[in-house]
Amino acid sequence: MDHDDAAPDALGHERAEEPAEDPIAAEARALLSEIEAELAAVSAALDRLEAGGYGTCEICGAPIADEALAADPAASRCSVHR
Ligand SMILES: [Zn+2]
Repeated sequence: MDHDDAAPDALGHERAEEPAEDPIAAEARALLSEIEAELAAVSAALDRLEAGGYGTCEICGAPIADEALAADPAASRCSVHR
């Protein structure tokens, strides 16, 4: 595995013209973006935990139901604003 992606492209251009993507790579990419979204949600939840807003709806400020938080600990909205 080559983890050089932090460095600029050695050829100085975007690799936009790759051949049709390997379906496994496409699946891995989709999974990765899912995980990144989840990570962002958890990270935002941790911020709210620190700031004191955890467990309340970011729209109306109502407390989020325990079962909703149990299902998704990173939930940021009540059942009305989901
Ligand atoms: Zn709400």
